[in-house]
Amino acid sequence: TQKLQGNNYQFYTPDINVGSSEELELEASLRRALEQKEFQVYYQPIVNLSCGKIIGAEALVRWQHPVRGMVSPAEFIPLAEETGLIVPLGEWVLQTACAQAQRWRDSGFSSFRVSVNLSGRQFSQPELSQRIVQILESVGVHPTTLGLELTESILVENATGAIATLNELKQLGIDIAIDDFGTGYASLSYLKQFPFDTLKIDRSFVSDVTSDAQNQAIMTAVIQLAHNLNLKVTAEGVETEAELAFLSQQQCDAMQGYLFSRPIPAAEMETMLFRGKRL
Ligand code: C2E
Ligand code: CA
Ligand code: CA
Ligand code: CA
Repeated sequence: TQKLQGNNYQFYTPDINVGSSEELELEASLRRALEQKEFQVYYQPIVNLSCGKIIGAEALVRWQHPVRGMVSPAEFIPLAEETGLIVPLGEWVLQTACAQAQRWRDSGFSSFRVSVNLSGRQFSQPELSQRIVQILESVGVHPTTLGLELTESILVENATGAIATLNELKQLGIDIAIDDFGTGYASLSYLKQFPFDTLKIDRSFVSDVTSDAQNQAIMTAVIQLAHNLNLKVTAEGVETEAELAFLSQQQCDAMQGYLFSRPIPAAEMETMLFRGKRL
């Protein structure tokens, strides 16, 4: 059998066909989950490398399934994307994360920023920037509270119009980040064409950076390149002290990763903020 997926035809083996009825079931339960409010937003702290303080967090959606337990976004985001459910889900994440960030700002963390992942479907919505403005207004949040993370592939798929949309969002004060940098198929000219504020270096380049000479060369060059283009650099997936030391030495601006904290529920994030946890 054949199934259209993006621009590729995929030929499924009988084995995977079994999986596709599972997929249908998952799709139905995704719809239900949205109604039943089974989703939660977790927050992974983002830390400034020069002062060691938490400057914000990435919002990462979690699905607390009544039977299966916690389902990974890697499992349901692609399906939500395929079915279009990512649009209402994504808006819910945006709303929830902005409202939460505003509460933290109000309690004294006045420059706290929350970074939200945008999917391709969301990004290709007409009037995306107006929609985001509506959400910010309904929650009563200043645009500088929000950062948006987009992957290279989203921009490749939506090249026309993307620059104008991103410019509108950036002009409002929203931080625009290119996510998973280095893993997609975009060329360096993307850094020139799109109005990014932040470059997030993918975890695959960060891991073993102290022992892997190639990663070391890539990291050093990317940080330098980003700085020369006036972009801030956030390293993802920092797991060891050695990786952290390397990043500090290279003057990387910010980091997130298990070394500092895993993604955590809002209440835990709040405790961490109030205790003033630092690097
Ligand atoms: P991402 O945007 O690249 O998010 C970072 C992922 O790396 C998260 O996985 C996070 O838990 C994980 N991570 C962070 N630090 C470390 C580390 O030190 N080591 C390791 N091994 N992993 C680390 P998660 O939460 O499972 O999310 C996976 C992906 O699902 C995200 O990748 C993002 O593409 C997508 N996603 C999550 N939430 C949303 C959402 O609200 N909307 C959209 N459109 N996509 C989302
Ligand atoms: Ca991200
Ligand atoms: Ca990423
Ligand atoms: Ca990723």
